[in-house]
Amino acid sequence: MKSKILEAVDFVIKNNLVKGTWGNVSIKEGDLIYITPSGIPYDKLTKDDISVVDINGTHISGLKPSSELPTHIEIYKARKDVNAIVHTHPVFSTTVSLITSFIPPLVEDAVMILGPRINVSEYALPGTVKLAQNVVNALGENHAVILKNHGLITVGSDIREALTASLVCEKTAEIFLYALNIGNFSEINEGDAVMLRNKYLNSYRQIEKDVR
Ligand code: 13P
Ligand code: ZN
Repeated sequence: MKSKILEAVDFVIKNNLVKGTWGNVSIKEGDLIYITPSGIPYDKLTKDDISVVDINGTHISGLKPSSELPTHIEIYKARKDVNAIVHTHPVFSTTVSLITSFIPPLVEDAVMILGPRINVSEYALPGTVKLAQNVVNALGENHAVILKNHGLITVGSDIREALTASLVCEKTAEIFLYALNIGNFSEINEGDAVMLRNKYLNSYRQIEKDVR
């Protein structure tokens, strides 16, 4: 699990999803959560630094966990299908958070992996229980939630799915901003959006299902 966290951190840096030490990544295995430590430069991170806590947040080993641990814990408690969480501060998703309360169903990959519409959670200070509640509410059954004036959280049945969701959400936010800038845009209708989402949940993930 610890090497998966290091690979995930490398991925978010290489894909320009964070600057500096912001953002955090966690993976749940059984009752344990492996999470990036708070405020540590990603290029200095070692396996021993990775924080291990139990599902109630009790510290077991490694450095002090991410300040967003309350949000990670509340998501894991609310969503039994989630085993990995990626929080980043990418430019386009964060821009969207400043101007609207959701991204409508615009493109197929987003509707499939993220959900019919991507909600923006209500603002709350980082690291607070209030933020955790707002995030869980806005996430619902989706795989992505944009945090108002803050950034992005994506979830997955595994870390690969959560990372892919981050890239797809950021790509969709970029498309949304281009479309808004140009003028009117068309949306995928609600019935088709639900069908696409179900297709992803029930047949696209067949390999992951077999592996687990
Ligand atoms: P941590 O360094 O404590 O994980 O916080 C980063 C962040 O993005 C807070 O929202
Ligand atoms: Zn953050």
